[in-house]
Amino acid sequence: MSLTAGVVAVQGDVSEHADAIRRAADARGRDVTVVEIRQSGVVPDCDLLSLPGGESTTISRLLHSEGIAPEIRDHVADGKPVLATCAGLIVAATDAGDERVETLDLVDATVERNAFGRQKDSFEAPLAVDGLDDPFPAVFIRAPRIADVGEADVLASWDDHPVAVRDGPVVGLSFHPELTDDDRLHDLAFFPDERK
Ligand code: GLN
Repeated sequence: MSLTAGVVAVQGDVSEHADAIRRAADARGRDVTVVEIRQSGVVPDCDLLSLPGGESTTISRLLHSEGIAPEIRDHVADGKPVLATCAGLIVAATDAGDERVETLDLVDATVERNAFGRQKDSFEAPLAVDGLDDPFPAVFIRAPRIADVGEADVLASWDDHPVAVRDGPVVGLSFHPELTDDDRLHDLAFFPDERK
């Protein structure tokens, strides 16, 4: 069956996510059509979604004003996969610790924006991730830290704080897997059944 993958494109690194999805699907022998989501009416046709990074205040405002937010909630309620990265994770969380971010409440976690400190605004770390055999080259850019998890499962931690979690069909990452050519986390998020 051919897949339709949506990349939320109200802001952020869209083409990198689209390319990573294509490579991950290709490695699984799956046909995929990638669509960019800028308005309502597209998410209901998608089998899987990426929610990229960017600026979480802007992303959350546009998702709500464009009517995309409830469609993403329905997608998750149907058990379909979402990969939320960096600002995408902030928007997907229960609590962003910032009232300017109206969260989607998809990942039962509290996040802290820009929590790794100025000197570490941007860094790369070899991250041990549950479900991957070898460390993942994780690129953090003004990244959020996960301060507290409720029902979500922790997949990886850095500096004693979770930076990768799974809550049902949603995988949330503090970092940017789409900025490497390593597609294992897109595979982990989007093809969980093939991995069993
Ligand atoms: N600092 C941004 C925010 O808090 C997230 C950065 C990113 O997505 N790379 O919204």
